[in-house]
Amino acid sequence: MARVPVAEGIFTWPSDQPRLIGSRCTACRIVTFPAQDACPRCASTEMAEHMLSGQGRLWAWTTQEFPPPSPPYAGPTGDAFVPFGVGYVELGNEVRIETRLTETEGLRIGMDMELVLVPFRTDETGNEVVTFAFRPIGGADGGR
Ligand SMILES: [Zn+2]
Repeated sequence: MARVPVAEGIFTWPSDQPRLIGSRCTACRIVTFPAQDACPRCASTEMAEHMLSGQGRLWAWTTQEFPPPSPPYAGPTGDAFVPFGVGYVELGNEVRIETRLTETEGLRIGMDMELVLVPFRTDETGNEVVTFAFRPIGGADGGR
């Protein structure tokens, strides 16, 4: 069984220390994720590839209790679905990204988070599809 990324150009792959691939406007310096061809703020098309920090702080979160609409969602459904955390993580004071979280409990706004790659689903040919997520550094808070 091979491991394959959920999409090309989202994170560095393969890599022992994965990083998310964003873009930065060379005119106004705003950072976006995923990478974009045109700046959402000043409309410049001079966007440069920009590696995002692998660590950040949790800004907001919730729990996805049921399978999201498909498409675009392509993960497990029905009895195979397991609720997962989703949230926004602020990376390096540059950008807030929407991301899957490894935990659904013990999360706290402002806690330190780090990027990890996690199994997402098995594709038609038996490959393990991996996607990115953030987990609390040092684990989730206990008893909350
Ligand atoms: Zn710009």
